[in-house]
Amino acid sequence: MKKSSIKFSLRFFVQLSIVVTVFSLAIIHQKFGIEKAAPVDAYCPFGAVESLFTLIFKGEFLKRIFVSSFILMSIFLVATLFFGRVFCGYFCPFGALQEWFRFLGKKLGFKKDLELPAGLDKYLRYLKYIVLAAVVYFSFYLGDLVFRNYDPYSALMHLGNEFEEKIIAYLLLFIFLISALFSKSWWCRYFCPLGAFFAIFKKIGFLKIKREESSCINCSLCDRQCPANLQIATVKEIKDADCISCGRCISYCPKDSLSFYIFGRPISKKLFSRLVVLLVALPLLIAPFMPFWQTKPESNIVNVQGEINVADIRGSNTLAYLIEVTGVPLSEFQKKLSLPLRVDLSLKLKDIGPTYNLYNKEGIILETEDFRQIVSSYDSNASEPDCPFRAKDCEFPGDCGLYVDNNQDGFCDHSY
Ligand code: SF4
Ligand code: SF4
Repeated sequence: MKKSSIKFSLRFFVQLSIVVTVFSLAIIHQKFGIEKAAPVDAYCPFGAVESLFTLIFKGEFLKRIFVSSFILMSIFLVATLFFGRVFCGYFCPFGALQEWFRFLGKKLGFKKDLELPAGLDKYLRYLKYIVLAAVVYFSFYLGDLVFRNYDPYSALMHLGNEFEEKIIAYLLLFIFLISALFSKSWWCRYFCPLGAFFAIFKKIGFLKIKREESSCINCSLCDRQCPANLQIATVKEIKDADCISCGRCISYCPKDSLSFYIFGRPISKKLFSRLVVLLVALPLLIAPFMPFWQTKPESNIVNVQGEINVADIRGSNTLAYLIEVTGVPLSEFQKKLSLPLRVDLSLKLKDIGPTYNLYNKEGIILETEDFRQIVSSYDSNASEPDCPFRAKDCEFPGDCGLYVDNNQDGFCDHSY
């Protein structure tokens, strides 16, 4: 009898590549800010679902959502029609982690899956459709990504950052990763709104899994291996919307009684995986090089009309970027926020207070809101005091107390 394990299959390598890629993007974004890498929201197809009605009725995307989410969603929707829920089975990082945690759990001794009673399991699976409907409705109604702070995947990709606002998401992440040690992907089966969305399209798709009754020996190994906890050994055909096309049931069947069918024609597991790589993974790799691919705005602060939107200044913006796009000189921030003369312009706004131990007038450590206030109150027509000595290329620290070096070339920018 074949033993349960993580198989080093093509599917496993796709999952591993996705996990590494998405984590790398998340780390780059967290470390270097939005100017160097887009937030992970831009690489998630669910953004297209959340933003769909806003796009249709208001002609715009929700904040943090761009064309990239719609391109990814288009690829996965077509893929779902032909190959079932391959997003969940091959490309979802959180789905992969839950599967690997279950494998780890088995190694730790939790051999038997902890399962809810069949009746409860059946009805709880509908919960994810309610979550989907609520997320879509409130995202449109409130004009924001309302699910972001409750989404364990979002918490996973923020790696300890934004802890206070995402406390529920971190809690859910902890609960579902721990539960995955001894049960089969409860998050995916009961709560995931993106899984629910793909499940609807899976139902009308062309992929089936059929069981050949004459060769089946009713060993139930397929049932035990199924990460979606579906009943396979007792049915002729698996039409369930919760099937994620992972093919584990087919791989583990000792009698080769199970097969994928597309358009009613049998297709081997190996060919199925290769087609997924060729027709889904390859377009995903090519998409970012297309001219219409966009994961972030030209500027998250200045809109296409060239207007500054102060509310959109983020803690992940660097001081250099803020100065560049708003035109507010460094001296203004130095004067109003007591920034050091040689402040590191590459620091993110949220890190400046803690780095230099700076506090605002309320005695709270300097935060992004303080920078927003400077930008909104800045009057570009108010004249800067001129250099009292009319000196040229005056070096730090100067004699006047007005020394300011906007471009950090070592010379005072008040010089004539
Ligand atoms: S039925 Fe088979 S292919 Fe579908 S989720 Fe279960 S093990 Fe994977
Ligand atoms: S389909 Fe295969 S794995 Fe499932 S019960 Fe029959 S022989 Fe066993």
